[in-house]
Amino acid sequence: MADPANERDIAIVERQLGRYPRGMVAVGARCVCGRPLAVVTRPVLPGGIPFPTTCYLTSPEAVKAVSHVEANGVMAEYNAMLAADDEAGRELRAAYRMAHDLYLAFRHELAVRLGDSEEHIAGTSAGGMPVRVKCLHALLAQTLVMGRGANPIGDLTLARIAGEFAPNVCRCAIDAE
Ligand SMILES: [Zn+2]
Repeated sequence: MADPANERDIAIVERQLGRYPRGMVAVGARCVCGRPLAVVTRPVLPGGIPFPTTCYLTSPEAVKAVSHVEANGVMAEYNAMLAADDEAGRELRAAYRMAHDLYLAFRHELAVRLGDSEEHIAGTSAGGMPVRVKCLHALLAQTLVMGRGANPIGDLTLARIAGEFAPNVCRCAIDAE
């Protein structure tokens, strides 16, 4: 794991989420200030609960910014783009399918490394992938963890919320200590 979670990260994420981040194995993306923005969660939580949302958005500022654009009907817009019967639609569908495959490959590597079973989440990624847009929070989390180019809808979401949230502009309100 490139950036394993330490005690301080876990304490910050607990405050961001308002609950203990069970199964958190790494920080997937950090704000320019160092605080976690998204975490990597293991495929099976302690207690045996299957957990498909491997890349999980924790930054309250990012969560809020995404909720604003979701409330403005952006998901319907992205679903229409995905369904478009033209070249742009075909390209977007192909890239979105690749984001899904990448998500599954990322989780599979994690499952193998941790000895977690994917039995109950096989083929399930997050956010509505591979054919629908259902949760922009999950798609943005993938973009933050894997970088631009990994998920086209996550990339669009990040661009759309730039005025409210960006990983290189610290707006964190959660204390580190
Ligand atoms: Zn920050």
